[in-house]
Amino acid sequence: MAEFPMCGACARDYRDPASRRFHAEPIACPECGPKLDGSMTDIVARLRAGGIVALKGIGGYQLMCDARNERAVSELRRSQRARRQALRGHGGNVASAERHWRLRRR
Ligand SMILES: [Zn+2]
Repeated sequence: MAEFPMCGACARDYRDPASRRFHAEPIACPECGPKLDGSMTDIVARLRAGGIVALKGIGGYQLMCDARNERAVSELRRSQRARRQALRGHGGNVASAERHWRLRRR
């Protein structure tokens, strides 16, 4: 959560031993926490249309699709296989493989 500097209220809770949020690692609120690029309505519409949405988290990206949409699930699995293949072809170097994968997708 280092990328999200705490607001005053969260900082007070983080330092207050009486607060249930005292030294809580993922402390944040709508004021200082992560924000969505785009609206939730857009994200839901993309998922319903069979799209794949990347959600950036603390440790990387999570890819989402409608699990009931066979085409979307197949496309997500296909892209993950291609990504793993690219990684193997680059000697396990993640940065090199991701650069290759992004270039191929354009
Ligand atoms: Zn806050």
